[in-house]
Amino acid sequence: MQLITSLEEMYTISDECRLAGKSIGLVPTMGALHEGHLSLVNSSVVANDVTIISIYVNPLQFNNPTDLQKYPRNLNDDLHLLHGKSVDYVFSPSDSDMYKEHPQVKMDFGSLANVLEGQYRPGHFDGVGVVVTKLFHICQPTRAYFGLKDLQQYLLIKRMVSDLSFSTTVVGMPIVREDSGLAMSSRNQRLSPNGRQIAAHIYQGLKRAAEAWKKGKNPDETKKEGISFYREIHGLEIEYFHIVDPDTLREVDSNVAQAVAICIAGYVEGVRLIDNLYLRQD
Ligand code: AMP
Repeated sequence: MQLITSLEEMYTISDECRLAGKSIGLVPTMGALHEGHLSLVNSSVVANDVTIISIYVNPLQFNNPTDLQKYPRNLNDDLHLLHGKSVDYVFSPSDSDMYKEHPQVKMDFGSLANVLEGQYRPGHFDGVGVVVTKLFHICQPTRAYFGLKDLQQYLLIKRMVSDLSFSTTVVGMPIVREDSGLAMSSRNQRLSPNGRQIAAHIYQGLKRAAEAWKKGKNPDETKKEGISFYREIHGLEIEYFHIVDPDTLREVDSNVAQAVAICIAGYVEGVRLIDNLYLRQD
């Protein structure tokens, strides 16, 4: 496993791999790695000749400066965790190398970015689009791995790749959870043990709503069931709870949609957490 910090060096390596006919798997991350990230890494290692994991906390996608400042960073721990996982390259550039100048290009994902995360984190997906495009150019992945934990991000990147004819295949990976059901997240590191217990209720509420849905409740009733569950959980503040078509992210108003997912965001101990659950898949 080799640590690469220079864009030029990474570009040269990916160029050489592609010229040699090797497939490249890329796992873009912001570090503070956990089992969720490792599941993406494992899939990449199995399917590609070469695996690159990028570790870069992208300032462009943070609309909240305190969130950026508090984002957990520990490259040494990350390298330790990746040891023996058959990763070929860890790409971890500096801010000054990644953004020699503040980018003028903006990424507008249209209606897909105006809801859910995009609504509450203005500019977030613009920053995600710019950094993922740069990573795709630098690492030239055959396949890139994204977690369905960030369902909206996965959808937007898939759409970007299709609209802009990138040659990369975007692979979506299921959410990895703690035993408590809490979706693994780098941000969980900022929670106290009590905070983690509170945060585990996020998934419990999703399951409660899913049960209501299964019993034939309509989206409104299902949402009410979820919201009333969360109201009882001291220390958990829900920011949004939407029942959407996971392809368009539009709210569904009946039970007839092909695929349906609940997307949720909330705060525990000042830490913003997101999760989602499919009620029905295509
Ligand atoms: P992040 O470092 O939070 O930007 O995440 C990097 C990638 O890992 C993204 O594609 C995430 O969706 C994915 N990821 C993060 N947490 C999980 C999880 N619990 N299960 C599966 N994928 C995840």
